[in-house]
Amino acid sequence: MSRPRNTPPSQDFLRIAGAALVLVLVAATLAHAADAPTRDYLAEARAAFTPENRAYSQTRVFLRLVGPLYGILAGFLLLFSGLSRRFRDIAHGLGHRLYVRVLVYFTLYATAIFAISLPLAWFEEYALEHQYGLSTQSFGGWLGDSLKGHVFSIVAVAVIPLLSLAWGRIVASPKRWWVWIAAGTLPVSLVAIVLQPVVFDPLFNKFTPLRDAALRTEILALGSRAGIPGRNVYEVDMSAKTRKINAYVSGFGASQRIVLWDTALQGLKRDEILFVMGHEMGHYVLGHMWKYLAVVSLGAFAAFWACAQLAGALVRRFGAQWGVEGVSDLAAMPVLFLSLTVVTLATMPAMNALSCQVEHESDVYALELTHDNDAGARSFLQLAKDNRSDPEPPAWVRVLLYDHPPLGERIRFALEYRPWEKGEPNRLYRPKAPNLAVN
Ligand SMILES: [Zn+2]
Repeated sequence: MSRPRNTPPSQDFLRIAGAALVLVLVAATLAHAADAPTRDYLAEARAAFTPENRAYSQTRVFLRLVGPLYGILAGFLLLFSGLSRRFRDIAHGLGHRLYVRVLVYFTLYATAIFAISLPLAWFEEYALEHQYGLSTQSFGGWLGDSLKGHVFSIVAVAVIPLLSLAWGRIVASPKRWWVWIAAGTLPVSLVAIVLQPVVFDPLFNKFTPLRDAALRTEILALGSRAGIPGRNVYEVDMSAKTRKINAYVSGFGASQRIVLWDTALQGLKRDEILFVMGHEMGHYVLGHMWKYLAVVSLGAFAAFWACAQLAGALVRRFGAQWGVEGVSDLAAMPVLFLSLTVVTLATMPAMNALSCQVEHESDVYALELTHDNDAGARSFLQLAKDNRSDPEPPAWVRVLLYDHPPLGERIRFALEYRPWEKGEPNRLYRPKAPNLAVN
């Protein structure tokens, strides 16, 4: 820029110097104001957890506990009412091949369970969410999604004959079948993880590559510092269904991706989104999927063994009453599924503890990657507000149901954790390119 010719250079310099001094002073004041803890995020999260939100949160806790019990009761209902026995007779009447019998039985069984569970699902997924202004989905849309999920499970059993393969093992070795099924857990889980984002998820929502080009560039830059360049980042149109916010990683290999709900794009500030991305990247870099798979595929041996013991005991005790001849009788399928639910319920505290550990590691990673404690705490506060979640749940609720640390804990940690300010080394984040290392 050129200066006016009639002003002597020295005066010009003084004016510029004066303005610069004022700017420096203003900037220093602002920086100080930003440094000072002007907002108490934890107090804000507590204040946001109004009696209304507490009622919502408590109802959800109740439903999370009642849901599996309701499923177990539904299984017993099919057995004691004789419906399961009748379904088996129909399946046997329609074909000789195990594949056909299993498919027919499963279709009848799954449809009965779907119908019995529908009122509870309606209350949990539709009525409650509307009562608290969280759902944006119409009743028709919700019912359509539910029906789609149900039909998909039957189509999956028809297309991928895993259930009839598994049933074949039960028929062939009624005592040792659980070993075979446990051994199949790892490969089946891997295939399911690969297929979920490309086959299952698109049935229910629209996924598009992240449209905000500037944000995309920032996320990719963060990714390259984390050592995961060119990762797929998608947005999903969840605002058509809910006001809640979320982000997650899914898939494996070519199907692997980070997914942001569009509600998160609308509800979170830019630096908060980047922090959330840092957390998701932590899951990748720290190999959490592999740790989880290792635990699940090894734990499957204990779980299916326990399931076999429980199902065997139930069939011995009630088989005659149910018209079920043994665990390899198709009519025993509800016993196996409800036994699996019981075992899964029993392992829930341990699995949640593992999940909380892994989620905490990702928080550590995001903080070390971004050094943005404030954005981290703010994003957790926003999550607590938008999802109406309890920042400080009772200990028993935490142990039984929380697969992420409570948001109050995450806020506190996000504000406190700053090893780089004390010259201490990072616990988890290792800068990938030395020239891009953070200060
Ligand atoms: Zn996570």
